[in-house]
Amino acid sequence: MQEKPVAVVTGGVRGIGRAIAEELVEEGYHVVVTYCNSEGQAEKMRELFRNKVDIKRADVSNQDEVDTLFNDIMEHYGRLDVLVNNAGITQDKTFHKMGANEWHQVIDVNLNGTFYCCNRAIPVMREKNFGRIINISSIVGQKGNFGQANYAASKAGMLGLTKTLALENAVKGITVNAICPGFIETDMVSAIPDEVKTKIQDEIPMKRFGTAREVARAVRFLASRDAAYITGQELNINGGLLTH
Ligand code: NAP
Repeated sequence: MQEKPVAVVTGGVRGIGRAIAEELVEEGYHVVVTYCNSEGQAEKMRELFRNKVDIKRADVSNQDEVDTLFNDIMEHYGRLDVLVNNAGITQDKTFHKMGANEWHQVIDVNLNGTFYCCNRAIPVMREKNFGRIINISSIVGQKGNFGQANYAASKAGMLGLTKTLALENAVKGITVNAICPGFIETDMVSAIPDEVKTKIQDEIPMKRFGTAREVARAVRFLASRDAAYITGQELNINGGLLTH
């Protein structure tokens, strides 16, 4: 049995997930980070965080791969304290041009992937009467966004899942919360055309995009014992773009 608490971060070799993994390492967790396509970045991270981070390939949209991942974790470490469902993709198109492919791909990774991971983590956490699940949703799941019906539906679905898991597992010492980032400087936002980015920035009361670190610090707090009485919540990190 691993002495340090074990945290799993899906999609953690780049972007927001990478910053989350780094924060959790600093907090003293043994972190299991997953990746899907970024083999090169996974290798670099492996060298940089030898012994502190375990990097495993798992496509979260594939239930068998998720099962193998969690079987490995339980076999090697015998515990699972924190799960951060961070892996996510976009496939933007206005709805009248969107095919079933774009719909299913996004739902499969963002929502079904979160389900597969929670489905394996919850029984382990219930047995230990302790757990922290943090789902990285989005402001888009709260208010919708032009060209992102699939993404908005997946992220709104994560919010419903978060609240229900929070209710069902509160009595077992498990907290389940969602973070709703606004626009954060990562590859996902770099993909937005420059003129659109300028327009968005203008609409943000803080007039800037957020950083991955700003999201990661909030995850670190929600994972901590200090956040024991916070569950079923949506934490907005959006520079004031949405206030409720
Ligand atoms: P990103 O830079 O595009 O990174 C996406 C991450 O998801 C990568 O680590 C990627 O891993 C992983 N991933 C994608 N498909 C996967 C799959 N099938 N299985 C496992 N992992 C997979 O995005 P980001 O900005 O860091 O976003 C992280 C999370 O925050 C996402 O859920 C996103 O929706 C959410 N979010 C981001 C923003 C923003 O402004 N950036 C705003 C709100 C919410 P590989 O590269 O290895 O495939």
